[in-house]
Amino acid sequence: MRSKELSLYIHIPFCVRKCAYCDFLSFPAEEGLRQKYYERLCREIAEAAGDYKGRSVISIFFGGGTPSLLTGDMTLRLMDIVRDKYCLSTDAEISLEANPGTVDKDKLKAYKKSGINRLSIGCQSLNDKELAVLGRIHREEDFYRAFDAARNAGFTNINVDLMSGLPGQKPADYEKSIRKLIGLKPEHISAYSLIIEEGTEFYNRYNDDLLLRDKGDIPRLLPDEEEERQMLYMGRDILRSAGYEQYEISNYALPGSECRHNAVYWQRGDYAGFGLGASSCVDECRWKNTDDIKEYISGDAAGLKRDEQKLSLEEQRSEAMFLGLRLIRGIDKKTFALRYGGDPYAFYGEWIDKMVNEGLLQDTDGKLKLSLKGQDVANYVWGGFV
Ligand code: SF4
Repeated sequence: MRSKELSLYIHIPFCVRKCAYCDFLSFPAEEGLRQKYYERLCREIAEAAGDYKGRSVISIFFGGGTPSLLTGDMTLRLMDIVRDKYCLSTDAEISLEANPGTVDKDKLKAYKKSGINRLSIGCQSLNDKELAVLGRIHREEDFYRAFDAARNAGFTNINVDLMSGLPGQKPADYEKSIRKLIGLKPEHISAYSLIIEEGTEFYNRYNDDLLLRDKGDIPRLLPDEEEERQMLYMGRDILRSAGYEQYEISNYALPGSECRHNAVYWQRGDYAGFGLGASSCVDECRWKNTDDIKEYISGDAAGLKRDEQKLSLEEQRSEAMFLGLRLIRGIDKKTFALRYGGDPYAFYGEWIDKMVNEGLLQDTDGKLKLSLKGQDVANYVWGGFV
C-alpha cells in the first residue's frame, strides 16, 4: 500500500525591509530575535514529526518573508532534522524563496548541498524604476547575478516571480521585462498582477487611484483596466510562444517543471506548516500557528495552534471547486465525485450552468475548466462556489 503523502511548509518571516506592496507576515528583525526564532523552528519541526509517522514527505517549501536570509548552515541543519525525523521521499521537491539582494555564490552552493533542489527567485521586475517604486532591495543587475550564481551552484529548476500592473508601468515596459526574463530560460515563471492590499504603503499611496479605476475612470498612476488586460494577454502569448505552458492562472512552466508543492495546495493534498503564522491542513483538519512572534518563541507545541477546524464535506467540496479551477486543466468530474460524494453538478448545478452559458466555464472531456474569458473574471466564477 502506498504511504500517505505530506508536504511541509517552513516560514521564515524576516526581511531586510518591508516592500511597499507587501501584506505577507514579514518584517525586519535584529539578529538575536532571528536566532531565537530559528531555534524554536528547529524544535517545532522535530517535535511534530511523531504526528506524521509513516507519511512520505513529497515536497518542502521554505517561504517567507525572506528564507534566503538563512545561512547555508541553517538550511543544512533544518534539512538534517527533516531527514532524521521524517520519511523524506528520494525525489522530493525542495524549494526555497530567494531574494536576489540576499544571496551570493557561496550561499547558493551551500543551499544546494543541503538538499534544496528548486529556487524561487523574487525578481518582480527587470526595470530599476519599477523595483524602486515597489521598495525592493535589489536592482536588475542583482537579479542577473543571483540567477547566474544559482545556475553555477547547480540549480536546474528555477522559478522567477514577475509582476504586472505596477504604478507607472506601460505594456511595453512589461513586455521588456518578460522578454529579458525568457532570454535566461528559467524553468518556471510565476506571472502575477499586482493586488493592492489594505494596510500596505501602496494602499495609502494608490487607494484613490483604485477607486477611480473601479468607477471605470482613468487612474493617475496605476495602469487602467485596458492596459492591465493587455499586459495579461501579452504575457500569456509571449510565454506560450517561448514554450512555457500555462498550467495555473498565474503559473507557467517548461514541460515537466510544474511546481509540485503548489499543486498540493490546489489539489487539496495534506500539508503541515511550521513557523510563525504557518497554516496546515491534514486529514481535512485545518489550523494556523500563532502570528505573535513572542508567543511563537516561548509557546509549547499545543500553544502554537490557532483556529483549529475540522472541515465539513460541504467546505471540502467548495475548496475543491475554487482551488481546482485555478488549474488550467480544470477539475476531473469523476475524481471529484469519488472524493466528495457526487458530481459537481449535484451541488453547484445551477451556478455551473450559468457560468457555462456565460462562456466562463467549459465542460469538456469530463472536465470543468475556466475558459480564457473565465480566467479574466476568475474571482466572479469562484464566488459561486464559496
Ligand atoms: S521581500 Fe517579499 S516578503 Fe519581504 S517585504 Fe518584500 S514582498 Fe514582502
